[in-house]
Amino acid sequence: MSKVNTNFSTDLKKYGSINFNECYNCGNCTAVCSLSTEESSFPREMVRYSILGLDKDIKSSLKPWLCYYCGECSETCPRVANPGELMMILRRWLITKYDWTGLSGVLFKSLTASIVAFALVAILVIIVGFFKQFNTEALLHLGHYFEMISIASVFLIILLPNIIRMWWFTIIKTKAKVNFLSYLKAIWDLIVHMFTQKRSLECEEENTFRWLEHFLIVIGYLLLLFITVFLDWFATESKIVLWSGYIVSALVFIITFDFVLDRIKKNKEINKFSHPSDWFFVIWLFLMAFSAFVVRVFIDAHLIDNNIWVYMVHIIILAQWAMLIVPFGKWTHFLYRSFAMYFDKLKMSQ
Ligand code: SF4
Ligand code: SF4
Repeated sequence: MSKVNTNFSTDLKKYGSINFNECYNCGNCTAVCSLSTEESSFPREMVRYSILGLDKDIKSSLKPWLCYYCGECSETCPRVANPGELMMILRRWLITKYDWTGLSGVLFKSLTASIVAFALVAILVIIVGFFKQFNTEALLHLGHYFEMISIASVFLIILLPNIIRMWWFTIIKTKAKVNFLSYLKAIWDLIVHMFTQKRSLECEEENTFRWLEHFLIVIGYLLLLFITVFLDWFATESKIVLWSGYIVSALVFIITFDFVLDRIKKNKEINKFSHPSDWFFVIWLFLMAFSAFVVRVFIDAHLIDNNIWVYMVHIIILAQWAMLIVPFGKWTHFLYRSFAMYFDKLKMSQ
C-alpha cells in the first residue's frame, strides 16, 4: 500500500486551481474518454489518486501523458471537477518530478520567479551585447553559436537526464519486465508519435483542423530550427534557404497567433484554464518566429546595421525560450508525451 501524502491536494493547487475534490467517483469521465482503454484506464483513477494523496502512484504512472486534453471528460463531468484540466495539472507536476535541477518546480509554482528569470536572461543578453559594443557582425556571429551550443547543452545536461529519470520512475521502479529487443522495436513508434501526435486524432472531440495546426507547428518549428541553426538563415546567400526561412517562420507565427487568440477567447474547453506556463509557451513561440522574420527583413533591406536593437530583441526572446521554456516549461510536453507513448508501448509488450 502506497503512503498517503495528506498535503498533495494543496500542493497540486499550486500548479493550477480547480476543484477536483468535488469528484464523487461516478466514472463518467473514463467512460466518455476515447483514449481510455481497459488496460490503461483514465482519468477517473488519476482523480482518485489525487484526492487520496497517492503521489507516488502518480509519479510512476504514464497515464497523465496519454491524455491529449480534448476536454470531453470535463464537459460531461456532473460535479464540474474538471478531470481534463487535472490531467494537465498532473503533467505540470510530473515535469517537476522528472527535472533533476528543481527549477521547473520553482517556475511553475511562482509567476514572480518566472518574471525574475526572464528579466535576468534579458539583462545577461544586454550585457553580452554591451561587451560586443553592439556590433552587428559580432552579435550575429555570436547569436548563431549561442543557438548551436544551447541546443546541445540543454539536451545533454537537462533533457536527457530527465528522460532517464522518467524511465526510472515509470519502468524500472514499477518493475516492468521489458527486454532489450522491445526497446528497439518500439523506436519507430516513438519517432512517429513525436512528429505527428497522431493519437490525438482518436479523441472524439478532436478535430482534424486542430490536429493539423499542431502538426504544422511542430514541423514548422523544427524546420525553422534547422534553417536558422544549421543553414545559417541570417547569413545565407541561397535563395532557397532564404525563402524557406520566410515561409516556415510565417507559418509558425500565424498559427501560434491563432492559438493565442483561442486562449484569450476561452471559447473551447481546453482554453478555459490557462496557467502562466501556457501563456509563456504560445506567446514566446509567436515572438520567436515573428522576430526572426523581422530580423531577416531588416537584413535584406540593409537596415540591420543601424537597427541592431531588432536583433537584440530577437536574441533576448530566443535566449529566454532556449534557457527557460524549452528545458523547464511547457515545451517539455513535446518530449515527455512522446516518451510516455514509447514507454507505454514497452509496458504493454510485457
Ligand atoms: S471527475 Fe467527474 S466524471 Fe469523473 S469520476 Fe469524478 S465526478 Fe465522475
Ligand atoms: S481530456 Fe480528453 S483525452 Fe484527456 S482524459 Fe479527458 S476525455 Fe480523455
